[in-house]
Amino acid sequence: MRIDVLTIFPDLVESFAGSSLLGRARERGLLDIRTHDLRSVATDPHRSVDDSPFGGGAGMVLKPEPIFDTVEAVDPPRPILYLSPAGRTLDQAYVAELAGLDGFTLLCGRYEGIDERVREHLIDGEVSIGDYVLAGGEVAAAVVLEAVGRLVPGVVGNRESVGDDTFSDGLLEYPHYTRPASYRGWDVPAVLTSGDHGRVARWRRAQALLRTARHRPDLLAARGGLGPDDRALLEEFDLQP
Ligand code: SAM
Repeated sequence: MRIDVLTIFPDLVESFAGSSLLGRARERGLLDIRTHDLRSVATDPHRSVDDSPFGGGAGMVLKPEPIFDTVEAVDPPRPILYLSPAGRTLDQAYVAELAGLDGFTLLCGRYEGIDERVREHLIDGEVSIGDYVLAGGEVAAAVVLEAVGRLVPGVVGNRESVGDDTFSDGLLEYPHYTRPASYRGWDVPAVLTSGDHGRVARWRRAQALLRTARHRPDLLAARGGLGPDDRALLEEFDLQP
């Protein structure tokens, strides 16, 4: 999968994309992440990429020329998605959609954002990472890169399986424990050391239902609430949602 990132702070994106999971995926040729400095196509002596808004007002706006010129020079993969608080909010379903593409491009805004003509005539969509305002799109790009990258086959190994993750089936994930089996008098639930794999699987499912009911009832409601099988599972482990 190829993901291009257009930014005026390529170092921010590169340092993230070059480290840890994404860095390894890049080295192994699983992810082709390319960052492009919008400033590199600016022709004036100051390499300016922003200007004051027509009509007045505070702040600066990213000019259209460096963005159009970069896209025309690089021909990055489509869709071109502008990171913006006005965009479609990223959730695991959207992440999975993006992970199913051969590639896409992320455009990072700064200052007050981008000239509206980029929105109207260049980009294909907008992605928000939540209802708050960042200073720039680079951190949002890092979020998209990591969330999508870890779903690309081979990027996450068996040691960090993605199959049971929170949201993967509309539920929060069950709790995890590791050694020691007893720590400061707090014991790991006995079922996990029982060796009964069927019971472990049922307990995990029951815990995922319980956790979702308690912390994210909206997710449970979206699945139609607790069904008879769910209730039976909770009863088996004496759990009250
Ligand atoms: N004036 C803009 C507004 O009110 O919508 C905010 C601009 S913000 C200070 C600068 C840039 O940060 C945006 O162009 C966008 O690329 C990025 N950004 C800010 N919040 C974001 C969010 N929640 N999701 C994705 N990108 C965001």
